[in-house]
Amino acid sequence: MGRTTPPRPVDIAALFPEIGPYARTATRLHPRPGAPTAGTSSVGGPLLWPAAEPWPVCREPHPRSYGIRPADARRRREILAAAWLRPRPAAGGLTYAGDEEAELDAMTEGPHPPPLPDDAPVPLMALAQLFVRDVPALAEFAPGDTDLLQVLWCPFDEHRSIPCAPALRLVWRRAAQVTEVLAGRQPEPEVVEDEGYVPEPCVLHPEQVTDYPWHEYLPDALAARIRIWEEGPAQELPGAPSYRADLSLAPGWKAGGWESWSVTDLQRQYCDDCGRELRLMLTIDSSEWGGANWWPREDPSPTDPDLPPVPLVGEPTEIAVGRYGAYRVFVCPADASHPHGADVQ
Ligand SMILES: [Zn+2]
Ligand SMILES: [Zn+2]
Repeated sequence: MGRTTPPRPVDIAALFPEIGPYARTATRLHPRPGAPTAGTSSVGGPLLWPAAEPWPVCREPHPRSYGIRPADARRRREILAAAWLRPRPAAGGLTYAGDEEAELDAMTEGPHPPPLPDDAPVPLMALAQLFVRDVPALAEFAPGDTDLLQVLWCPFDEHRSIPCAPALRLVWRRAAQVTEVLAGRQPEPEVVEDEGYVPEPCVLHPEQVTDYPWHEYLPDALAARIRIWEEGPAQELPGAPSYRADLSLAPGWKAGGWESWSVTDLQRQYCDDCGRELRLMLTIDSSEWGGANWWPREDPSPTDPDLPPVPLVGEPTEIAVGRYGAYRVFVCPADASHPHGADVQ
């Protein structure tokens, strides 16, 4: 089943035709829990990784033994998801079965064996793989004849390239060249700094949508006219739509499109190699939920009172970055092999 974003409550390009040239087509990925394979696009699924190619590691110096074990993170989610579906005690809280509560108590954040020196190579964690055939917005970024983007990260916070977030590795390849796929369990670190850095396996339901830029990218006069419209005529419309929340930036995981700068205001990203302005390629979001009018028609709304009280309906990947924000990956339009940029808001 595909996923369909409802039409915007107002077509901003009909109202302000001069915004037309700023439109970008993005691919919303719509990840949902499932059983992806190495041959499919996914978040948290197995990568189509050549058996003969070494698995990438992080050698940057930082602590790598303190945090939570990925196996514990997954078991904790399993226990909590089951507990949410049981009748709730009158006193509040959740109902656990058997030894589940003791199991949860034993899953501590702290040092876990083996103790590793700060520069020991640790395997990266597979985060996502996206075939260009499924995610058309990637086509303009794919270098040469590559058709598959694989995204891995080192799930610790103290990297030089980005403060307080995992460091990302992008691998472009030609899928047809992977004749013998890495078998067995994929490598992953023994410990991650934060449970929110462990993705749940999700299949994707990509959908093409139109994004418009964060207002600071627009000419001042146009941004001012939009603001006047928001404060006047838009107030008379159902839901009083706003440019920022309702009309411009699709929420959730997406490829391409535009990004929000709600925390820092606009900070343009430039290529370390050639100086060109980088372009948003991928958004790794903590939530798919961006207000009722972005929720796909095919899905029950997370605010539907008939849904079981599982709090994670809008958070299928269970990835949580920054202060429950979005990790954005920017790529050089001249050459995707130039160093990428990253920012969390
Ligand atoms: Zn690292
Ligand atoms: Zn460049």
